[in-house]
Amino acid sequence: MLQEAQKILKTYFGYSSFRTGQEEIIYQILQKQDTLGILPTGGGKSLCYQVPALLAEGVTIVISPLISLMKDQVDQLQQAGISATFLNSSIDAFEMEERVRDAIHGKYKLLYIAPERLETPNFRAVLERIPISIVAVDEAHCISQWGHDFRLSYRLIYQMIEGLRVKPTVVALTATATPIVMEDIREQLRIPRENTVVTGFKRENLTFSVVKGQEKRSFILKYIQDRPNQSGIIYAATRKEVDQLHEFLLQKGIKAGKYHAGLSEEERNHAQDQFIFEKIAVMVATNAFGMGIDASNVRFVIHHNLPKNMESYYQEAGRAGRDGERSECILLFTPYDIQLQKFLIEQSLLDESAKQIEYERLQKMTDYCHTELCLQRYIVEYFGDHYEEETCGTCQNCTDNREKIDITTEAQMIFSCIKRMDERFGKTLVAQVLKGSKNKRIIEMHLQKLSTYGLLKNRTEKDIANLIDFLIAEGYCKLTNSQYPTVGLTNKVVPVLKGEQKVYKKEQAIRHLLDANDELFEILRTVRKEIADREKVPPYIVFSDSTLRDMCAKC
Ligand code: ADP
Ligand code: MG
Ligand code: ZN
Repeated sequence: MLQEAQKILKTYFGYSSFRTGQEEIIYQILQKQDTLGILPTGGGKSLCYQVPALLAEGVTIVISPLISLMKDQVDQLQQAGISATFLNSSIDAFEMEERVRDAIHGKYKLLYIAPERLETPNFRAVLERIPISIVAVDEAHCISQWGHDFRLSYRLIYQMIEGLRVKPTVVALTATATPIVMEDIREQLRIPRENTVVTGFKRENLTFSVVKGQEKRSFILKYIQDRPNQSGIIYAATRKEVDQLHEFLLQKGIKAGKYHAGLSEEERNHAQDQFIFEKIAVMVATNAFGMGIDASNVRFVIHHNLPKNMESYYQEAGRAGRDGERSECILLFTPYDIQLQKFLIEQSLLDESAKQIEYERLQKMTDYCHTELCLQRYIVEYFGDHYEEETCGTCQNCTDNREKIDITTEAQMIFSCIKRMDERFGKTLVAQVLKGSKNKRIIEMHLQKLSTYGLLKNRTEKDIANLIDFLIAEGYCKLTNSQYPTVGLTNKVVPVLKGEQKVYKKEQAIRHLLDANDELFEILRTVRKEIADREKVPPYIVFSDSTLRDMCAKC
């Protein structure tokens, strides 16, 4: 059976061998076993259902969340001589009817459908008349509320499957699933646990780094200038930032394109084509760009802003180096990007418990920026995978030769201060107490009477806050999951307080940016406006100016 699969791989797709994971997933599908496959971005998930589709009797239904992605895949399949089509809101009723009729007569091997279609009972009735042998659920994490891109209509997939006369083989595929999400996908699609195929999250050809305290634009400009003709993507958080950065690069003579949801479909398609066909080397974009984009020679992905969680980060960064060549993933970090993400969580329609989950995820993303452990290892372990080697040897933290200094005494002071403050206050206030600040809040709350007051008066407040961030990232301290989190301690501090264990940190090479409050205020205002435009309400409905100021002050 696998030999036939090999043959199909060669004849239709022109590849000579399967990649890790593909063979196993395909084998299980051909054995009619429902399967969950977790392959990294660019790992080749599409082939996992396309190859079995050609070997199976009837039609393979592919549920896929993005219209543009569907069209691309169908185009590619048709070019390879495979009969495939899609059903989504981009085609008219007449066309829809014709395609459905053809599908019922088994004309297609693959039929792509948007999950929203399943919301129409009529459509589900139509599906029952199509001879379906395989149901492939692409981007399967969308089925889980714990996933990062939950779609309600994905919940209808199992109902649809149950309605079919003959039970099809179900295969769910995703790149970014934590253990909880995997469990959820399996439960909802009734996939037996043992039928999970996970290939490592590790992408050995990617080099990760986090850049702190540098002016972002100049960094990006220099980076691009140093690498003429290399293809890369720069992700920014807002449309306005994309516009401005794009404009800036053009002025500096860089041929860059831009892509965000505020552009017309035509402009977006044009930009995308220019990038894929290498007319432009650099694309500045929001996260609207890239899902399903098959540009294999992307040499770098730079994040101008902190993404909301590790799932998003890895999905976007993972667009680098799909061809296996060494590529770089750089995240430009400033603390006020955290505030921007908190703002987005606060204004979202999520309920309280869902917000908590988002805060927790954001914290893991922030820890990534503060940790001094191997970044690749951090990522792999975040996704619940085992990292065999000690370190990757290529990421920023692995290649950083700065000397490690003993900060045990400072750490002990910080821990004691947090304890004295009953683990009830935020990072800023703890830093202020240790600094011995005479700030109004300190005096009002009589915090100057604490025995830990002024213990670190030789350090700057920012410095102390950085130390606390580091201690959080290394798991000594923890934050509550809320907009204004309080700092607490974990069991890991016990041996340090007893003097049985030491804490080391690399020297701070670059100081953090100066007060960024005004800049942050501007960013928050921009985002507020974009949200207001989208929701068609005046900006003050989203958040008042004073609330924004408040958020900045607590940064
Ligand atoms: P994913 O959906 O997992 O992100 P895709 O299915 O889009 O990845 O595949 C990424 C790229 O890898 C595509 O260009 C695809 O043609 C290529 N690819 C997939 N399988 C193989 C293989 N066995 N050998 C070589 N290239 C492959
Ligand atoms: Mg895919
Ligand atoms: Zn490393």
